[in-house]
Amino acid sequence: LINDFEDKEEDLMPRPPVVTVMGHVDHGKTSLLDAIRHSKVVETEAGGITQHIGAYTVDINDKKIVFLDTPGHEAFTAMRARGAQVTDIAILVVAADDGVMPQTIEAINHAKAANVPIIVAINKIDKSSANPDRVKQELTEYGLIAEEWGGDTICVPVSAKTKQGIDTLLEMILLVAEMQELKANPNRPAKGTIIEAKLDKGRGPVATVIVQKGTLKVGDSIIAGTTYGKVRALIDDKGRKVKSAGPSIPVEILGLAEVPNAGDILYAVSDEKTARQISEMRKEKERQQYFASSSKITLQDLFSQIQEGKVKELNIIVKADVQGSVEALKQALEKLTNDEVKVRVIHGGVGAITESDITLASASNAIIIGFNVRPNNMAMQLAEREKVEVKTYRIIYEAIDDIQAAMKGMLEPEYKEVITARLSVRQTFKASNIGTIAGCYVEDGKVNRNNSIRVIRNGVVIYEGKIASLKRFKDDVREVAAGYECGLTIERFNDIKEGDILETYTIEEVKRA
Ligand code: GDP
Repeated sequence: LINDFEDKEEDLMPRPPVVTVMGHVDHGKTSLLDAIRHSKVVETEAGGITQHIGAYTVDINDKKIVFLDTPGHEAFTAMRARGAQVTDIAILVVAADDGVMPQTIEAINHAKAANVPIIVAINKIDKSSANPDRVKQELTEYGLIAEEWGGDTICVPVSAKTKQGIDTLLEMILLVAEMQELKANPNRPAKGTIIEAKLDKGRGPVATVIVQKGTLKVGDSIIAGTTYGKVRALIDDKGRKVKSAGPSIPVEILGLAEVPNAGDILYAVSDEKTARQISEMRKEKERQQYFASSSKITLQDLFSQIQEGKVKELNIIVKADVQGSVEALKQALEKLTNDEVKVRVIHGGVGAITESDITLASASNAIIIGFNVRPNNMAMQLAEREKVEVKTYRIIYEAIDDIQAAMKGMLEPEYKEVITARLSVRQTFKASNIGTIAGCYVEDGKVNRNNSIRVIRNGVVIYEGKIASLKRFKDDVREVAAGYECGLTIERFNDIKEGDILETYTIEEVKRA
């Protein structure tokens, strides 16, 4: 019903970059977003007053940049955990008087885990205590080496207060965007991501979407998560009614039947009836999932995914009580990397396991290892909801052994055969269109309809296969126990003879400790 096809290369056109601002609390994320908005938007858009719709666009030399208005890596990763990635570039704000702080490190790791390029804005350089070189020095520890020091990280000194450096920052964003060659096909039904949604007293459900493919138009029938509707009006970030919005452009939508969730993917579909059908189908599925027992993403699942070739990397988040343990665990775990699986510690930090760790794990399909730390209450609840596995240890080697044992066990699973029953064939009958039926006596054990079976004649295995049917008298049965007679047929084998011995068995995986 939803036609989310891949676009042809020749249909793709350049699109503006979508930028998220991240960094430690109080380092100036909000101030920087405001400074950019006020320095650019008002002067270029005659009379245009920016509306808060969750994102805004600025124009620089005929090029656009789109800023998401919810700063912070938490929102960014929460969206990613729902399967939505809208951000093309992350601006890491670091206060020049404070330097790299815990949430700076989190932000770096969250952006890296999402493969989003980072531009560093060294903020508050108007302050006398500002020390940009110290910031750059500290950043090298986290793999961000300033260009001027031979690395490839662009660092721009700025002041959200005096607006110094803002133009350079914007130019750098355009430069990085150009290297990314961001493109999308504007001529197709729209696909986008809901970045904000609310119930407005006068206007009903209102959602802001960033269009990622195609063009969203007034009149389009849409589906977003489990909610649907028909676009009644589109409003841009300057508060103007518009007829359409193309790739990367944020717009507010009126006309949805209910309020969707941030992170929901929006699609334009052929008609409103289809939209309603998809919505109903999804709601039904949600109800079913609610009642189905929740299956966690466990270490075992992860490794079986690895085994099936679905995952080539095992992502781990390490939290510990002291930095020394974080480093020790990180190094030891990454050493476990082998030919099949790359073990990657995507985030390491000191302190309790937080909600931000859980969302990152959920978005990156990672597990969390806590050493001498525990999840806080909120994090524990979130982990349960997001089905993220959190393992806590008090001894480093136990953590390493656990991961190693699981990797070994899952990568080379060992199977063993379990004999379920032995039967002797007492008579045989030929039945048209069924084949040869063996009348058997179960000597030992219990035979199950789903077992595998082998035919032994004079001590030699002459056939191995599956049971085709198992009956007692005229009835199909699931199981027959020792001391009873039964009639059975074997898939694709009709040469059964009186006196043959039948062995039934199952194959079971050997669980390793
Ligand atoms: P956020 O928590 O990262 O969003 O930080 P805010 O934008 O709320 O800023 C925190 C504090 O730093 C506020 O008191 C701002 O006025 C101040 N601030 C932000 N940017 C600058 C700057 O460039 N220079 C100076 N001197 N102060 C700033």
